[in-house]
Amino acid sequence: MDLQDTPEDAEFRARLRDWLDKALPTLPPKPPPDDWPARRAYDLGWQRTLYDAGYAGLHWPLDAGGRGAAPTRHLIFLEETERAGAPYVGANFVGLLHAGPTIAAEGTAAQRARWLPPILRGEEVWCQGFSEPDAGSDLASLRTRAWRDGDDYVVSGSKIWTSHAEVADWCELLVRTDADAPKHRGITWLAMPMDAPGITVRPLRTLAGSAEFAEVFLDEVRVPAAHRVGDENDGWRVTMVTLSFERGTAFVGEVVACRRVLGELAREARSNGRWDDPALRRRLGRLNAEFRALWRLTQWNVSEAEASAGGGGGGVPGVGGSVFKLRYSHARQELYDTAADVLGDQALDLDRPWVLDRLSSLSYTIAAGTSQIQRNIVAERILGLPKGR
Ligand SMILES: Cc1cc2nc3c(=O)[nH]c(=O)nc-3n(C[C@H](O)[C@H](O)[C@H](O)COP(=O)(O)OP(=O)(O)OC[C@H]3O[C@@H](n4cnc5c(N)ncnc54)[C@H](O)[C@@H]3O)c2cc1C
Repeated sequence: MDLQDTPEDAEFRARLRDWLDKALPTLPPKPPPDDWPARRAYDLGWQRTLYDAGYAGLHWPLDAGGRGAAPTRHLIFLEETERAGAPYVGANFVGLLHAGPTIAAEGTAAQRARWLPPILRGEEVWCQGFSEPDAGSDLASLRTRAWRDGDDYVVSGSKIWTSHAEVADWCELLVRTDADAPKHRGITWLAMPMDAPGITVRPLRTLAGSAEFAEVFLDEVRVPAAHRVGDENDGWRVTMVTLSFERGTAFVGEVVACRRVLGELAREARSNGRWDDPALRRRLGRLNAEFRALWRLTQWNVSEAEASAGGGGGGVPGVGGSVFKLRYSHARQELYDTAADVLGDQALDLDRPWVLDRLSSLSYTIAAGTSQIQRNIVAERILGLPKGR
């Protein structure tokens, strides 16, 4: 991948910049952080604005409703939207960043036509029903079961840590369809409508005060068999695709945001005197190098994925996504710990910028697979070390 803008890229960047300058002032005020219905409306509204302007799904394949653009365009989009202070993907995280890409890669033509355009148009929100109380890191030991009854699967069990479940229309759901098969072989990936009878969503409150995620209880919920992505009992393979997107590319936009925060921290430190501390300056410098390296790693991951797909969007990121996820989640924590150092006593004031971000940064080494699990993957699948358990 060429890291410089081509003349066409530069023109695209300038046009996007111009459009953002005009579109952002027309946005409604940001909703309060804990009002999820309002946040859903806000995030979907922004997605619709992007769609109408031709900026939704830039790097999604054409037959998935996207624009089939090269990955460089998407990275430019991320850089420019962040530079301009555009809204974050928010409630659309799962749909846009890993359920949608999974359906684009693994779904049938009918499934792509049904689910992908509403994600891009900002009409439907997805959540992820993978984790269970006794199956987080050891995801393949999940116990929510599904059995076939005519044209439906009937699903019973429970899920936990389901982000945005309260406001979601669809759930990418993992179920056990063969209890006798080895644990990785009896799993199926389903798209479950969240308004189906038998679903109970109970919100969970986090350290930062937000009810961002929930427990989801499933009592004989009927999911049409046509909503199965991939074959019955082949869900582990499909899940690997989902996790590749979740770890490899879903957090990419946030790296750009972290680089912006870093600049703000340096400015704040200069104005409040903390800049005189050479140890703090060294930390900021090291973080700057770390986030630059992460951006390069991103460019490499994305271009590798695209090369494997033959270009034109839709490539599945490889196992290098675990390196990215591991480094990114730690760098993010360190960034906000440094923010607390810059803020001094004000780091306890929840109304100050960065304080809630610091609390939520703790979750990044757990969400989407813990750091220990990423290290296991790097050790076994990249470095070729023997399994140590
Ligand atoms: C903010 C946030 C949002 C989330 N959103 C969702 C969501 O939308 N949908 C969803 O399905 N899930 C979601 N999760 C759940 C997340 O995927 C799990 O929390 C994660 O996979 C870890 O599982 P666990 O919590 O059960 O921990 P456990 O699996 O119980 O792990 C406990 C500890 O043991 C370590 N450990 C476990 N096994 C091994 C091993 N083999 N080798 C080394 N160490 C090991 C872990 O690394 C961890 O430190 C979310 C989590 C967070 C924090």
